Amino acid sequence: MNPPPALAEQPPKTQAWHRLSVEETLAQLDSSATGLSAQEAALRLTANGPNVLKEGKRISPLQIFLDQFKSLIIWILIVAGVVSGLLGEMMDAGAILAIVALNAVIGFYQEFNAEKSIAALKKMTAPQAKVWRDGKVMSIPASGIVTGDILALEAGDLIAADARLLEAASLRCIEATLTGESLAQTKHSETLEQIDVPLADRDNMVFMGTSVAAGTGLAVVVATAMQTELGRIAGLIAEAGEEEQTPLEKKLESFGQILVWTALGVVALLFGLGLLRGTELFELFMTSVSLAVAAVPEGLPAVVTVALSLGVVRMSRRHALMRKLSAVETLGSTSVICTDKTGTLTVGQMTVRALFVAGQRYQVSGEGYGPEGEVLIDGKQIDVEHEAPLLELATVILGCNNAHLSQEKGSWQVVGDPTEGALLVGGTKAGGDRERIEREMPKQHEIPFDSDRKLSTVVRKLPDGQCRAFINGAPDVLLQRCTKLYTSAGVRPLTDQDRQAIVAQNTAMAQQALRVLGSAYRDLDNDSSAELVADAVEQDLVFVGLSGMVDPPRQEAKDAVGKCRAAGIRVVMITGDHPHTATAIAREIGIATDDNTAVAGIELDKLSDEELQQRIAEIAVYARVTAEHKLRIIRAWKANDAVVAMTGDGVNDAPAIKGADIGIAMGKAGTEVTKQAADMIITDDNFASIVAAVEEGRGIYDNIRKTLQYLLAGNTGELLLMTVCVVVGLPTPLLPIHLLWINLVTDGLPALCLATDPIDPDVMQRQPRARSERITTANFLRTMGFTGLLTASVAFAVYFYILKTETTEIARTYAFAVLVFAELLRAFGARSETKPVWRISLFTNLNLVVVIAVSFGLQVLSQHNEMLGRFLKTSYLPFTDCLLLFALGAIPLFILELVKLVRRRWRQNDPPIRRNP
Ligand code: ADP
Ligand code: MG
Repeated sequence: MNPPPALAEQPPKTQAWHRLSVEETLAQLDSSATGLSAQEAALRLTANGPNVLKEGKRISPLQIFLDQFKSLIIWILIVAGVVSGLLGEMMDAGAILAIVALNAVIGFYQEFNAEKSIAALKKMTAPQAKVWRDGKVMSIPASGIVTGDILALEAGDLIAADARLLEAASLRCIEATLTGESLAQTKHSETLEQIDVPLADRDNMVFMGTSVAAGTGLAVVVATAMQTELGRIAGLIAEAGEEEQTPLEKKLESFGQILVWTALGVVALLFGLGLLRGTELFELFMTSVSLAVAAVPEGLPAVVTVALSLGVVRMSRRHALMRKLSAVETLGSTSVICTDKTGTLTVGQMTVRALFVAGQRYQVSGEGYGPEGEVLIDGKQIDVEHEAPLLELATVILGCNNAHLSQEKGSWQVVGDPTEGALLVGGTKAGGDRERIEREMPKQHEIPFDSDRKLSTVVRKLPDGQCRAFINGAPDVLLQRCTKLYTSAGVRPLTDQDRQAIVAQNTAMAQQALRVLGSAYRDLDNDSSAELVADAVEQDLVFVGLSGMVDPPRQEAKDAVGKCRAAGIRVVMITGDHPHTATAIAREIGIATDDNTAVAGIELDKLSDEELQQRIAEIAVYARVTAEHKLRIIRAWKANDAVVAMTGDGVNDAPAIKGADIGIAMGKAGTEVTKQAADMIITDDNFASIVAAVEEGRGIYDNIRKTLQYLLAGNTGELLLMTVCVVVGLPTPLLPIHLLWINLVTDGLPALCLATDPIDPDVMQRQPRARSERITTANFLRTMGFTGLLTASVAFAVYFYILKTETTEIARTYAFAVLVFAELLRAFGARSETKPVWRISLFTNLNLVVVIAVSFGLQVLSQHNEMLGRFLKTSYLPFTDCLLLFALGAIPLFILELVKLVRRRWRQNDPPIRRNP
């Protein structure tokens, strides 16, 4: 053994690893084909650091705090505070600045928390890699990879470090990130002779940041982190450090700009009016500042951020990880969900129930992946030892199989593909012996399963030296490639009659919702082993038999499909499985009706894009599709103005996932490539979680909308009140401190509580909103104006009435109080746009209740406590009057609730249009 190289010593920068043989490479890295021990890996990790590229700038807490001072209005306030201070109005100055500071602290706290939870989520969606450790394959975070680790690669993997290939079976990688070449590059494990091989031609190496398009491979890691080829150019790549604004945030920002400028316009007008009237300059200045404060919704951006990010955290608890914040609002408007069948709509726990070989049909008993179970003919148990055809089928099934079983807490689990797991169990029950096959017929070559080809092949050397390809795959695809038939009397040419009999068996199994696989083999010329590509090997086959497995539908999926129907969302099944199997499952789950059948991929090929667009709404189930079909289906729906969510798991689904409005990757079955392309990852692969996420998406949108409504209607009221008073020549009813208090405390805190309101349980009883719908609809603006008018009227009436008999200061105290009470009470009504206030339980948003109780308490206290009274510029107010004002403050809420009731009646007479069957 060579002495091991010193650990901390990194390999020189451009080590020519491609020129070393597999053995030399392993020796240099002090590793072996079965990988490092966990202990050694841990040592190397501490010595060389984690396998991550240096990140772009993180947003620091200081940055978040400074961001709170970005808005124009805050600066207007600070200036106002300073000017008041210079003019000797110390109380005003102190109060204004204190409230500005309070606002910054609340904003900072909320956004800091939001930022932290988003960062935690990001960690959860970080890429994983499969490595050999302690002689076993395990999935670890890519950041934990060290040099010398053995990577196990398969289609759909993101390559987590630079590595030298030890083995490669039909391995093809996409290296566009490094070389710009978008076609997949074929890889091998042979040593390259030349010295100066450009990166793009180092075919025995794989590189960090690239991905596996097809095939499988083993590779030993030669460089990690910044030592990788990607790491060396990472400085050139703009890191995605900055979180981009969501469309909603952008829309709101431009809306906010409009508000600011209109407000400033009004302020300027009133300022001019005041000058003409000869109002004192300082008073005029303060009034103008107040008006600006009244008009501008300063709490708005924070509220949106908080609603979005807390919603995202809530989603993660329901098994949906959002990778992009901007996807949340689109999610709420989803009108079509295109979903996988296997594992998503079904439990993905498969058990072989039927076998067919040499004209005989067998039943198989047993549940799950446990080994207990018998093979029966017509209900009678048989002795598998004496059934030669059964053994033949079992040998093909097991000869081409990569799954493993493990027993966890008493129940059997599959490591690998569930379909292959089921075949492993079924083949063993039928008398096959996987260990013996591995021992006596060593594996020579493999062409792994891919869902476009729908076949899987393993070539083995039989004990007599003959090479034989064992092939499992979709029966219809397989049968087309068969020319001979295995029978109990030996192999003979396959006749048309034979084909019909096999197709009939396949159909019969599929109609019972069984997932059916065919098995075949082919004896190869021993010397032709150089040409082991799929097209050459997978033809002229000997057909052996069929296996049918159950994969029961998920109960939750059935319920979720019902929920979607009520919510006006179309569910479309897209599967690689047989049309009959697909239809049977679709009917059980409620996606398809009895007269609705699956459309197969080949039928889609006959339709032009326009024809597909026209027919798309009728089709509920697609079967035997490829990734390309998925993309066409999405495009057709989008052309019909639908907002489409689409699931996928394989590498080839990445374009469809990118093309959909909401791309969804499966957390368990999904490949790294699809996960990185997706907007959302479902951690339990369950269809019901997709629907739950849509529900949350709608809830978040609702919350943002109602918070916006609440804040803007409040501002409208204040602005109206102030403007009317200035125009008719009354003294200003509210001082800057009053408006600040209302905006930042009375409105601001309840708004945050509204933004995090629990979801309305009826949110899935509505139709999805249109893609083009703005948050500020005509209806929204009407309600906003009406509400503002109501509160302004009540406050104006009180002010005007008191002003006739009392001083301005006392009148202001009354006006301030009634406005605050009106705002606080209105917060309860704002929780729903349609439901009456007494139908929404107070206990579901205790924060709101507490915040309102405290605000109310402070208001009353300020009328009696001298300190607080001086701060808030209020005077004494008898308790009975306070109660009276409270009653008056309830008037806007009361009228708004009445309007809701009338609208509800109206809508009930006019039933909603249902788009679903
Ligand atoms: P889906 O996930 O929608 O069920 P797949 O692409 O996984 O579709 O499978 C399509 C078809 O390919 C299946 O109906 C089955 O006949 C065949 N198949 C699936 N998995 C395997 C496998 N591991 N080996 C061979 N054939 C398979
Ligand atoms: Mg699948």
